[in-house]
Amino acid sequence: MGYADKRVADAMRKVDRKDFVPDELRSLAYVDTPLVIGHEQTTSAPSIIASMLRSLEVGKGMNVLEVGTGSGYQTAILSELVGGKGSVTSIEIVPELVRFARANLAKYKLTNISLVQGSGAGGYAKGAPFDRIIYSAAATRMPQKAVGQLNESGKLIVPVDEGLWQRLYLVESKGGRIEIKALEAVVFVPLKE
Ligand code: SAH
Repeated sequence: MGYADKRVADAMRKVDRKDFVPDELRSLAYVDTPLVIGHEQTTSAPSIIASMLRSLEVGKGMNVLEVGTGSGYQTAILSELVGGKGSVTSIEIVPELVRFARANLAKYKLTNISLVQGSGAGGYAKGAPFDRIIYSAAATRMPQKAVGQLNESGKLIVPVDEGLWQRLYLVESKGGRIEIKALEAVVFVPLKE
């Protein structure tokens, strides 16, 4: 649909969304809409995942942090994007969803993923510095701690609450100097803070 670039589209083709949604929603797996995964959470629409990953420019060999594993669908796509020499750490606050994601990801031979249970509201200091950080839940303000965990050419993408909706922000470290770009308006579940 034009949201992804070629690299993101190629990675998305390797991951079947039907492997990441509850059995009763499998018939809706290829519809471009968020789907309920339980615990008041949803797996994002593929178009928004495509658009975020395109803006984030995730490359081979990168060290990536994902906050809000959910179903693990985007985790698997990130894993394909960074390749065998890269690594993806994904942190999820709801223990049952960590188990759901782990079971879903077990259908794939992906060896570069670490799932962590906990809050990623402040990033994940243990895994820093990161080349890329992606938030899949909306923060009430810019997650400054996580911004501080970027390396000198790192990028972070985060939906930030702006009242009626949320806005996606792309934060880029350029030699340690931080630049922030506002992107499109979006709707995500709130980040638990
Ligand atoms: N990309 C995921 C999106 C899941 S929705 C997918 O496509 O499946 C966002 C997820 O963020 C939810 O699973 C929710 O439980 C989780 N979450 C909310 N607050 C969090 C926090 N502070 N730390 C880590 N995960 C959090």
